Amino acid sequence: MTPKIGLKVISTPKVGQYDIPGHPEHPLRVLRSLEHLKSLLPAHAFEEPMEAPLEKIQAVHSDGAIQVVRREGYFDPDTPGAPGVWGCSLLSAGAALKAASESLGGAKVFSLMRPPGHHATPEGGMGFCYFNSMAVAIQDAVRRELAQRVAVLDLDCHHGNGTEEFCLGKEEFLYVSLHQFPAYPGTGRQSRANCVNYPLPPGTEEGDYFPALEGALRRARDFKPDLVGVSMGFDTYEKDPLTQFGLKKKDYQRIGQWLGESGLPMFALLEGGYHDDLPFLIEEFLAGWTS
Ligand SMILES: [Zn+2]
Repeated sequence: MTPKIGLKVISTPKVGQYDIPGHPEHPLRVLRSLEHLKSLLPAHAFEEPMEAPLEKIQAVHSDGAIQVVRREGYFDPDTPGAPGVWGCSLLSAGAALKAASESLGGAKVFSLMRPPGHHATPEGGMGFCYFNSMAVAIQDAVRRELAQRVAVLDLDCHHGNGTEEFCLGKEEFLYVSLHQFPAYPGTGRQSRANCVNYPLPPGTEEGDYFPALEGALRRARDFKPDLVGVSMGFDTYEKDPLTQFGLKKKDYQRIGQWLGESGLPMFALLEGGYHDDLPFLIEEFLAGWTS
């Protein structure tokens, strides 16, 4: 099964402009995935992102955090900065902005970019993430009155602490996450206010995953959002080197299908996913999402 026409993929080979040798979040993750999708989809399905305007980053992140990224400086051993990371971070956030606004026109839009974003807090980068592209996109959608209520569904295997911190207590947002617990970054054990967490133990497979996903989707629907942003991580895969979930390749098609059946305006951003099978997992997800 291959992804159907009607899907937009926002990506660019420029994601390869920064590389931290030996780091699991390497350029080939995205470059190989882009090449694979190009072999499956017509050329008009692909769009190039623009860099996010600085004021849209400032709507989420402190000046101190932005300055560290601008000088391509060090946050932590996972997020050490590198030449090119400023431009790539702006492009990744810019792709998220484009994905959110185009999805409100009825398209299913997938941003295939790096760095990922969901660990980045308003105060700084961490966990491979420099700017929180999801937060930038949903804040912009609300500020521009393109949407009044936005739900974020975070399906990366790690808890999106940065997105939760951004959304917490803001009534226009709902944050719902399914993730491994215990695992990095150690947050997401309990729900708090408008942030709903489904911590799942190491070893979780489809039999326990899909009932939790059903609950998460129900929570998102009950919020009556006019836009849903999906932080789509593929590190829930059984062979992922960083985590201990047991989802199989075919499960990503089912995840995509369930999301598509919700009928809500929806965009998805690539977060994690560190196994070389990533291009095929993305294909399964997109095939289900657009079926
Ligand atoms: Zn992750």
